[in-house]
Amino acid sequence: MVDLCIALGSNIGDRLENLKRALTKLESVAKLTAWSPVYETAPQYVTDQPAFLNMAARGETEFKPREMLDKLKAFERELGRTEGERYGPRVIDLDIVFYGQMVIHEPGLFVPHPRMAERDFVLRPLADIANDWGHPETGKSPSEMLAELGGGADIVPFPLEV
Ligand code: AMP
Repeated sequence: MVDLCIALGSNIGDRLENLKRALTKLESVAKLTAWSPVYETAPQYVTDQPAFLNMAARGETEFKPREMLDKLKAFERELGRTEGERYGPRVIDLDIVFYGQMVIHEPGLFVPHPRMAERDFVLRPLADIANDWGHPETGKSPSEMLAELGGGADIVPFPLEV
C-alpha cells in the first residue's frame, strides 16, 4: 500500500457537489484516511473566470501511479469535464500531488506535482492533512512551502452548511 495525496478543484456548476462526487469516486481507488476543509480561492493564471473550491484528500492505494492517473482522468470525464483552455474553468480537476516518496518524471506524469510549490490553493489544504509529509526532492513540508508563498492568508475556508 502506498500513501498518496490528491488535490481537487472545481469552478463550474455546483462546485461543492462536484467535490463530493469526486471524493466518492476516489474511494473506489484508495482507502481515504483524511480530507481537508474546503477553501474558496481566486483563479490563478487565467483570472477572468469564477472562483474555485479547492480541497485535498489523502489515502492508501495499491494502484500504481500511472493507473491512478488514468483513473483520475476517467473520473474527470465521468463528472462532466470537457477539454478546454489550459488553466480555464473546469467541473473538476484531480491532480496527484504526492505518491509516497516517489519522484516520477515521465511523459504526462510528474510526481510530486511540479507546480504545487507555487499554488497556495494546493498547499493550504495539504497543510491540513499532510504536514508531516516532506517533499521527496526538497524535504519541505506543505506549510513551509506555503510560508514561502506568503502564508496563504487570503485563502478562506468555504462556509459549509451543517
Ligand atoms: P490538468 O489540466 O491539470 O488536469 O492537466 C492534466 C494533465 O496533466 C494530464 O493530461 C496529465 O497527463 C498531466 N499530469 C502530469 N502530472 C500530473 C499529476 N501529478 N497529476 C495529474 N495530472 C498530471
